[in-house]
Formats: sequence, structure tokens, C-alpha cells
Amino acid sequence: MTYQHLFVDGTSAQLPLGKVVCVGRNYAEHARELNNPVTSEPLLFIKPSTSVVPLSAPVVLSARRGPVHYETEIALLIGETLSGDVTEQQAKRALAGIGLALDLTLRELQDQLKAKAHPWERAKAFDGACPLSVFIDPAHAAALNALPLMLKINGEVRQQGSSADMITPILPLLQHIAQVFTLLPGDVVITGTPAGVGVLHAGDQLALSLGDLLKVTTEVTNEVA
Ligand code: ZN
Repeated sequence: MTYQHLFVDGTSAQLPLGKVVCVGRNYAEHARELNNPVTSEPLLFIKPSTSVVPLSAPVVLSARRGPVHYETEIALLIGETLSGDVTEQQAKRALAGIGLALDLTLRELQDQLKAKAHPWERAKAFDGACPLSVFIDPAHAAALNALPLMLKINGEVRQQGSSADMITPILPLLQHIAQVFTLLPGDVVITGTPAGVGVLHAGDQLALSLGDLLKVTTEVTNEVA
């Protein structure tokens, strides 16, 4: 399936809609707030292409699923294949776009799955679990290691961080992931969330930003019965 990855300047990249590789516990403060140990190497999991929806569309809550928690993350659009041992330069060249994502999580279900040592997909990979923003050209980001991200809900700051706080920074992260999963054009990597995660409520107005580079607003609604 070809997907139009849109850029903030109105251009688009016609790439397949691929997998989303997700990184857990990449900000120490967030790992602490959930009482999770910080891992010695990046904690990786995958959301399928069917989890991707536009971040500009409302987040729809479903009674069947139960409470949905938000995690605001920097998203990386992959434009070239990265596989095996790649250099930092190759990782940088393969980065086609930088955007924002919500890693939507059924936290209570995830806690139950963790307790049973079961996989997390039921809690993390459901349809709509990965709202993705438009992307900016990485050339417009002054420094990959100093990208500020923020989430406001109903005007109140809930999450605030910077890629400077990542345990594994952006390019080393792509290098690590390429050794585990081949990254293909159209794949997306979401890079972990800063502290301040919590539950979404119908009526919430969300404003996500990547410094002055990108601002996206969305709202939360209940599923229409
Ligand atoms: Zn996450």
C-alpha cells in the first residue's frame, strides 16, 4: 500500500506505509515514573501499518478497549533501506522526515500482559494506536540532538522534553535498530516518550509541538455507538 507521507511545506513522499518500530524507556525520567528499570540496550517493539492514522484526525476512544493513555514521541520517517551495520552518516542520509507521533497505549492491559510475560501487541498495536503527524525536512532541524517536544492538553503542559534527554540518541538508535530489523523506505521509528504520560478523556484538546518546527492539534472523542 502506498501512503502519502505529508510534509509541513505541502510536499509529500509517496512511500509504502510500513512498520513502525517503537522504542521504550528512552527517557530515564519516564522509565522511573512507570517504575520500569532502564534497559542496557534499546527496548524495541513494533506497531503494524494498520495502527497508523493521521494525527490531525480526532483520537477516537472505544468502550470496548477501555482507557487509552498517550505518549508523545518524536517520529522519524525512513527514506532509504537501512540494514545491518550502518554508519551514522548512512543513518542520517536515510532520515527522510521528522515528525510527531502518539504511542497510544492500553496501559492497564499492558500491565496485565507484562505481569504474565506476554507480548504487548494487544495494548500497543491495535488499529489507530499510532497517530502520525506530517513531517518536516530534517534539513530544517538545526540539531537532531536538541529537538524540543511538548504536549499540552486543554492548554496545560503535560509532557515536555528534548531529544537531548534520550538515552540512545536519534542516529545511534537508527544504527542499533538496523542491526535488529531492516528498515525500509516508508517505515517509521518512534523514539520514546518523556515523563508525564497519562489517560485521555473525551473532549480533551491536544496540542503537540516540535519546538517551532511543527505544531499539531487534535481532539479526543468517544466512538459513536
Ligand atoms: Zn512509547
